[in-house]
Amino acid sequence: MSPLLEAALSYAARGIPVYPVHWPRRILGRAGLACSCRRGPACDRPAKHPLLRHGANDATTDPAQLERWWDRWPQANVGLATGIVFDALDIDGPAGLAALRQLQEAAGLRLPDPLVATGGGGWHVWFRPTGLGNRPPRGLHHVDWRGRGGCVLAPPSRHMSGRSYRWLRRLDQAPLAEVPAALRLLLNPDPSTTTRPAGTAGPDLAGHPYGRRVLADELAALGRATPGKRNLTLNRTAFKVYRYVAGGLLDDQEVTRAFTTAALAIGLDPAETGRTLASARTAGLANPRTIPPPPDQRREEAGP
Ligand SMILES: [Zn+2]
Repeated sequence: MSPLLEAALSYAARGIPVYPVHWPRRILGRAGLACSCRRGPACDRPAKHPLLRHGANDATTDPAQLERWWDRWPQANVGLATGIVFDALDIDGPAGLAALRQLQEAAGLRLPDPLVATGGGGWHVWFRPTGLGNRPPRGLHHVDWRGRGGCVLAPPSRHMSGRSYRWLRRLDQAPLAEVPAALRLLLNPDPSTTTRPAGTAGPDLAGHPYGRRVLADELAALGRATPGKRNLTLNRTAFKVYRYVAGGLLDDQEVTRAFTTAALAIGLDPAETGRTLASARTAGLANPRTIPPPPDQRREEAGP
């Protein structure tokens, strides 16, 4: 059995729908490789587009069908439908990795190691399915998300570079990870709703309920900021919240992480976000605030 069919059957056995994809082939009298399709060297998606008309929608877990396909096209690359057994973060080479590193540092994000090295010099990190469709994470360049309705090529498919997709770890080595919250936020469709958790700033945030409500309100205000006002709004809202950090109502790191994630989610760039937050933090910590006194007490203080 060819390694390609063997791989296709093993994916299908895990419940991952598989479909055949064009492959890179040598052409007599030419240097290099060309797509196996009729366009050959002129193909604009060489060795990446499906052999069947409906592409990933034709994908199946039926072993008999897979055997028929790879019997007909023994060299076909192996395409997998995403969004069912796994979603994939598609990191497009060193530039994509650099964008993720910035987010990792800024948001305290911890990503699992990539599972697949692509033949084109990038990586795929597999996650448990999110239910989300294909979309690039907001604010991250050279990084893409393959979810419901999407697809990826899988080992041992071959790339036009002549290299193969390969496993960096065995698929069985550990269960697939959940998408980290900081990344998930960048994938959610509407930042203004995702940065406004109803009533609280999320279950993982420490702090006094009053502080958490202030944080949630300010994050929501940041989510609503119009494009030209985003950096200014970040400065204003973060300043307010850091004052409560200084007052002992909220945790410094949690606040920084929440604002960083929210700022990246609305499209601010990581460097600008870092600078603005640092300055808002310095100013806020120098002006502590705590829970305001109840209204009747305030009246008394105001005097007759
Ligand atoms: Zn082609």
